Amino acid sequence: MDDLIKQAADDLAAARNVVALTGAGISVESGIMPFRGKGGLWEKYDPMEVAHIDAFMRDPARVWSLLVKDMKETLDTASPNDGHKGLAKLEAMEKLSTVITQNIDGLHQAAGNTDVIEFHGSFARQRCMDCNQIYDTREVDISEIPPRCSCGGILRPDAVFFGEMIPQDAMWRSRQAACDCDLMLVVGTSAVVQPAALMPVYAKESGAKIIEINPEKTPLTHEISDYLIMGQAGEIMNGIMSRLESR
Ligand code: NAD
Ligand code: ZN
Repeated sequence: MDDLIKQAADDLAAARNVVALTGAGISVESGIMPFRGKGGLWEKYDPMEVAHIDAFMRDPARVWSLLVKDMKETLDTASPNDGHKGLAKLEAMEKLSTVITQNIDGLHQAAGNTDVIEFHGSFARQRCMDCNQIYDTREVDISEIPPRCSCGGILRPDAVFFGEMIPQDAMWRSRQAACDCDLMLVVGTSAVVQPAALMPVYAKESGAKIIEINPEKTPLTHEISDYLIMGQAGEIMNGIMSRLESR
């Protein structure tokens, strides 16, 4: 593994435009559970029951109490870990231009990255289903479930549920960023949710090097990635950054 960390530091040093694609795994060390993999939410819940738009429309109170309420409580107190901080440092070093994230937790922005494409929207905002007014999640009163807008409409996360479309702008900008980079860091994603998992494919087709960081193999590992560094995002990013900074 040390060899691969050294290799990644060398590759980053040589790269001109790095883009990161991140998934739930990068936030595990901040105490936020992923969906898939060990300890993932899907061991506890059926995704179609809690994260599909049809389930939300059918019974918003149920989805709020099963999933969204817990998520709000977790996210209200979560903070960035060394994985997020490493990506922010790479931007400060003018290596990394863009983070494409599937996460809805806002931790990349909290760590200091300025160009973050929220592929699946954000949980930091809630939107009224009647009048579209946006609320800061931390200010939403959840003493009654589901929480409501001042107009009486039900609030929903401003995030993409299963069964909903990816915001056009996020899709277009991500594809552009993937095609423009010469190195893509793919951190903590199971790479099974489409179309996010296509971004490393676009990057590869445009000639970029693909480095994966994940404790487990993914469908990208043998086909698309140049190499996989197996381990926790924070620990691995720390190793890479200290090598890169001491060059
Ligand atoms: P996923 O849940 O499908 O997969 C998580 C991946 O992270 C797995 O491959 C797992 O091996 C890896 N992983 C686990 N611990 C890790 C660690 N410490 N360091 C690095 N990798 C680790 O996640 P996904 O691919 O992002 O796709 C699922 C969807 O889940 C996304 O659309 C996202 O919106 C949503 N989600 C987001 C959050 C969040 O915002 N933090 C949390 C849960 C789910
Ligand atoms: Zn409203």
